[in-house]
Amino acid sequence: MALRLHNTLTRSTQDFAPLDPAGKKVGLYCCGPTVYDFAHIGNWRTFVFADLVRRTLEFNGYDVRYVMNITDVEDKIIKRVRETKTTLREFTGKFEAAFLDDLKTLGCRLPHATPRATEHIPEMLELIGRLIERGIAYKAADGSVYFSIEKYRGCGCKYGQLVKLNFDEMRAGQRVASDEYDKESVADFALWKARVPDDGDVFWPSPWGEGRPGWHIECSAMSMKALGTTFDLHLGGEDLAFPHHEDEIAQSEGATGRPFVNYWLHGAHLMVEGKKMSKSLGNFFTLRDLLAKGFTGREVRYLLLTAHYRETFNFTLDGLTGAKSALARIDECVGKLRALASLVVPPSGGPAAEPPRGGTTNLTANFGNALADDLNISAAWAAVFDWVRETNKRMADNSLNVADATAALTAWEKVDSVLGIGTKAEADVPADIQALADNRTAAKKAKDFKRADAIRDELKAKGWLIEDTAKGPKLKKI
Ligand SMILES: [Zn+2]
Repeated sequence: MALRLHNTLTRSTQDFAPLDPAGKKVGLYCCGPTVYDFAHIGNWRTFVFADLVRRTLEFNGYDVRYVMNITDVEDKIIKRVRETKTTLREFTGKFEAAFLDDLKTLGCRLPHATPRATEHIPEMLELIGRLIERGIAYKAADGSVYFSIEKYRGCGCKYGQLVKLNFDEMRAGQRVASDEYDKESVADFALWKARVPDDGDVFWPSPWGEGRPGWHIECSAMSMKALGTTFDLHLGGEDLAFPHHEDEIAQSEGATGRPFVNYWLHGAHLMVEGKKMSKSLGNFFTLRDLLAKGFTGREVRYLLLTAHYRETFNFTLDGLTGAKSALARIDECVGKLRALASLVVPPSGGPAAEPPRGGTTNLTANFGNALADDLNISAAWAAVFDWVRETNKRMADNSLNVADATAALTAWEKVDSVLGIGTKAEADVPADIQALADNRTAAKKAKDFKRADAIRDELKAKGWLIEDTAKGPKLKKI
């Protein structure tokens, strides 16, 4: 089934076709974090969604190049640097490192490149220079360089590709200097901001005087440098569609005269406990806040992955508790499959050497078809839990042989290459060690203590100590 995605640009769900004539390589860009604080759970919804898109493309056989920028200079950062009396790099470095740590905790595959805005000033200046040459940007009396929406539209270009804008309400000559503004304030926006005393040490030289880039030009410069003038997919939260993404399109297409991005995907908002997240309501969580409450990155990832990306999702602590039990069901099933698959086949043949009986639900096909339908994650999870139910039933009535268990594990691993939840044991114990431990538990249950002891010795020889605790056996690295 062909992969279909909802493209904000065409407001329709389309078959995905990459630019690459061989149909293999895909360029993917997601607006990364503004590193002025720890990312909150609303931000994480977007980044986990981006990870799902990347993994789904890979599952479908594409060779993805995934780029996520680090916004390390913009209005909010400069304000915090001033307030905390530190340097830009010292301030942003701390939050950038925390962001990358959190990304790993949430089981996201690292992007292939995470370019920093401050390391792409020459590319931004070049882009602004081209816009000035083409008459689309101008230096204003305040010393800053602005993008002229009127001139851009005059070239036959369209401003308002992602959102509908009412230009009749626009006043000619209006300008906006700040990075963030609303649809009612659509106006010429800043590409280069002239240095002001509040900027402190944060400024660079430019042909138009000392200053710093606007936020929007950063993403145009970094994405086109990493992925080319026109690339396949650009993602972000829906709150970025205007003005950020609209301005990215205008700057890029204005400078190159070519289409910027073929598919735009936007993730919906997150509510927490039924309300808009806010510090004053006490429902504002960073990932670290949730870890401190005893939840794991894996549980948070699972919960964020239960809702379709275009639907507003209500994130709750009860939901996280539910994630724990849903994951436990998967872990139990996969753990039992591992124990069954690792049974030694007797040399003389016998039940363990039987060919697969087959008959299991086609997990990978059902899962893949669900995701190909604009990332229908609810149907994808339904495929997973149908498979868990059927597999448990077949293991309970002994109708699953060793070959079936091995095939089932292969299917699970393929599916998990997209879900990225692994199994609990994988967090720190290698699969072969876990399988041995599971066999020992099975031997003990069967009162085959000789075999259980032999497995314990084997584990010890491999550098693992097994201890029986009230909560079951625990593995420890020697
Ligand atoms: Zn961006």
